[in-house]
Amino acid sequence: MPTAKQQHIVVVGAGAFGGWTALFLRRQRGDARVTLVDAWGPGNSRASSGGETRVIRATYGPRAIYTRMAARALALWKEHQTRWHRQLYHGIGVLWLVENDDQYEKAALPILRDAHITFEELQGTELARRFPQINCEQVRWAIVEKDGGYLTARRACAAVLEGFLAEGGEYRQLAAQAPIEPRGGELSSITLSDGSRLTADRFVFACGPWLGALFPDVVGERVRATRQEVFFFGTPSGDRRFTEEALPVWADHGTRFMYGIPGNEWRGFKVADDSRGPLFDPTNGERTPSAAALQIARDYVAYRFPGLKGAPLLESRVCQYEQSPDEHFIIDRHPAAQNAWLVGGGSGHGFKHGPAVGELVAGLVLSGAAGAPDEQFRLSRFAH
Ligand SMILES: Cc1cc2nc3c(=O)[nH]c(=O)nc-3n(C[C@H](O)[C@H](O)[C@H](O)COP(=O)(O)OP(=O)(O)OC[C@H]3O[C@@H](n4cnc5c(N)ncnc54)[C@H](O)[C@@H]3O)c2cc1C
Repeated sequence: MPTAKQQHIVVVGAGAFGGWTALFLRRQRGDARVTLVDAWGPGNSRASSGGETRVIRATYGPRAIYTRMAARALALWKEHQTRWHRQLYHGIGVLWLVENDDQYEKAALPILRDAHITFEELQGTELARRFPQINCEQVRWAIVEKDGGYLTARRACAAVLEGFLAEGGEYRQLAAQAPIEPRGGELSSITLSDGSRLTADRFVFACGPWLGALFPDVVGERVRATRQEVFFFGTPSGDRRFTEEALPVWADHGTRFMYGIPGNEWRGFKVADDSRGPLFDPTNGERTPSAAALQIARDYVAYRFPGLKGAPLLESRVCQYEQSPDEHFIIDRHPAAQNAWLVGGGSGHGFKHGPAVGELVAGLVLSGAAGAPDEQFRLSRFAH
């Protein structure tokens, strides 16, 4: 009897979305050949998944789909760090500071309960007592997510690649040439930067901020790269108040959405502004931090963490969000190729979901014609 031809699945992009997708494809379909391709490597310095750390939290206002995905992702992060014998997740908790407008946090509470997320609500006075290093002026109440915390970013991407290779996956460091325009209802091959063609039965494109350039007609401006700046300040020597033993990750939903990670694997006290910056070129953009963004971070730190007023800047990073118009992910088939899937639009919150997205996308890809993504992730939502 002739044996069935071995299926070949290609995943382009080894960031948080593509790496985990490749791993789950290989694991769920052990008889298939899975090739992961990346232009510059997993968690490279241009990628949105680059840098040291990312927050993992389940509070998502009214957007229940992400709370549920964060809960699933958390279980998978824990499972994989045990499986791979390395720490990827630091469960130091996430503290949400709530000022006057508390619609977002209020909407999240029943959803957190439904998803069995362990959390605590704190009133302003109790908060000030527990965290004397925070200026709690204007803060009315807070949520403490006990299982939240932070993840190592580029190191996790490298660990996922290692895990994928150990489970029999193949990796090639080459770029897929743009634009990709399927013909006849299917995509049969892509051209790589060395001039070769890569043929496969199914494709997944998880190209972060580059997704629009690869598919200008179908994605185009629906994924826009915005410039984001992150600063790492030095804490006084021997001062434990600003380490991860004394302080959780914090998310400050005041007039500006500021957040940060204490300790941060000894990189310093990380402070970031979640406001969307100007458009940014992820390939050629210069990653020099701006004086204006640094001043915002300094002023914020001086106000919210008075013990760090005037703290020296140790490091900084310029990266980009790959922003979709509604901040929902894009997980859908290419409208002109039933065997090609587009995955992206992490919009500043994708990293934590990597394993859950990977598991979900692998299931969709492998279920063939039956695979139907949630409405909220579909490209058709942009037509309305
Ligand atoms: C400063 C900052 C802070 C953030 N904070 C958080 C946070 O705290 N928590 C959180 O959950 N999320 C956070 N995010 C968002 C999160 O990091 C991203 O949503 C997520 O990492 C996106 O992953 P991705 O795989 O879609 O994209 P990427 O990581 O960009 O991966 C895409 C990959 O595709 C490759 N590629 C692109 N084009 C090609 C091509 N033509 N051929 C081959 N390879 C190609 C690239 O080299 C890249 O490795 C943050 C993002 C930034 C920038």
